[in-house]
Amino acid sequence: MSEGWRDESPLLTLGGRVRRLREGLRLTQEEFARRCGISVSFASLLERGERSPSYDTLLTIGRALEVPVSELFREGPAPETSEPSHARLIEFARRAHLSRQQLDRWIAVGHAMFGIEPAREGGDLAARCAVEGCDRPVLARGLCAPHYHRDRRARLQQDG
Ligand SMILES: [Zn+2]
Repeated sequence: MSEGWRDESPLLTLGGRVRRLREGLRLTQEEFARRCGISVSFASLLERGERSPSYDTLLTIGRALEVPVSELFREGPAPETSEPSHARLIEFARRAHLSRQQLDRWIAVGHAMFGIEPAREGGDLAARCAVEGCDRPVLARGLCAPHYHRDRRARLQQDG
């Protein structure tokens, strides 16, 4: 069934990807179209690979589906749907309207809670500093290097 994937037209691949991501978020085509500010018929044609969206529309679609635009072109199954119980996490983040930074903080808590090492490779997935307004990568304890050292100095002062 996955054979022929690479032979599909790029628009068909994009359309299928959009549909799977949309379904992963439990969005109807109507809800998706409203989020994107496009017509339902355009959304439908897009998912069938019969319309070529503009770059601006792609950006909007990425935001609506809560993924980077690059994810729209990634091959293979959507990770969201590979484990059905994980969809609850996505649903939670969607309903809570979590920002990228709030999501990163939440993931950092998850790392600490389950003792999972944050992913080092794949810049997009790397954890970000938990300090509001700071977007540097995490060094330790959910903080970037400057904030980690500031926090450490503060703790040493408290102890001493
Ligand atoms: Zn920081």
